[in-house]
Amino acid sequence: MTELERTAAALEGAEVVGIASHVNPDGDSVGALLALAMVLTGAGKRVLPCIPEPWKYPPQYDFLPGREMLIAPDEIGEQPGLFAALDCSNIERLGPLRKKAEAAETLVNIDHHEDNTMFGGINLVDAMASSTSELVYKVIRKAGWPVSPEVATCLYTGVVTDTGRFHHRNTSPGTFVIAHELAAAGADLFRVVSEVYDSQSLSYTRLLGRALQRVEVMAEHEFAYSYITQQDLADTGATLPETEDLIDHLRSVRGTRVAALFKELPTGEVRVSLRSRDGFEVGPIARSMGGGGHAMAAGYTSDSDIAGSVNELVEKLRDRRG
Ligand code: AMP
Ligand code: MN
Ligand code: MN
Repeated sequence: MTELERTAAALEGAEVVGIASHVNPDGDSVGALLALAMVLTGAGKRVLPCIPEPWKYPPQYDFLPGREMLIAPDEIGEQPGLFAALDCSNIERLGPLRKKAEAAETLVNIDHHEDNTMFGGINLVDAMASSTSELVYKVIRKAGWPVSPEVATCLYTGVVTDTGRFHHRNTSPGTFVIAHELAAAGADLFRVVSEVYDSQSLSYTRLLGRALQRVEVMAEHEFAYSYITQQDLADTGATLPETEDLIDHLRSVRGTRVAALFKELPTGEVRVSLRSRDGFEVGPIARSMGGGGHAMAAGYTSDSDIAGSVNELVEKLRDRRG
């Protein structure tokens, strides 16, 4: 049996299913979570879909069908027999839901990170997949469950956001096949791009302005970076979950191969997002800082302040150049 077959069979046999995205959820983890929650509910299961703290639901995905099904981590009273972790490269990515996941009889790990630690009893992990949403689509098809227009919209959102609108290196011919199938199943293509990319709040637009205004470039490291403080959030009224795509503006500065966005958290720690291009790999840097991610999109959290975090990263870039 393949891991895909095992995953479909385990879900078909389950009665109570916990499902979770990773902390600081993005479009892929939210799309995969809502799609699987709707499909399993339709198949008669009791489903407990959850986003772990610390970050709240990103507002740009408010339009997604199934959003009302989500429950808070502390509302999961009962212990699900099966727990599915979505888009999590390791079990720490589940935050406070880790305990429920580990206590489940069957822990299913569905993910596309190359550094996945294979923490599940079943590990449907494929680093060649564009997104976890693509893998969830395959599971749904394998089990023979229907893909409603609502489910297709959620999965399409995952594929579109993780590929940066079919723009990043994880876009392959197979990505377009899946996009085609989701479009044919009734995914609301225009609503997805309109809500995710063409509906930013005025507060986020102002925050983006601040971040772009203060971009710094270190030409010797082909490095561009910027930062966001808690004060910026207070002044503009924007929230961190809205900043998912801000870093793409930094990577697109000509001459840049590595981009970083430093985001001050309420705890004073700094969340560092890394993106790269032209063969430069940021996954190993993020891992060496206690984080992780893909070769060209990764992240970690630092205990230092923003200036200290910038220095730490510059040291890493210096080491790499030798
Ligand atoms: P972000 O900059 O938060 O959008 O993260 C970029 C990528 O790195 C995503 O694929 C995340 O899933 C992954 N990532 C970010 N932070 C971590 C972490 N602490 N541990 C493992 N993977 C991470
Ligand atoms: Mn993700
Ligand atoms: Mn993903």
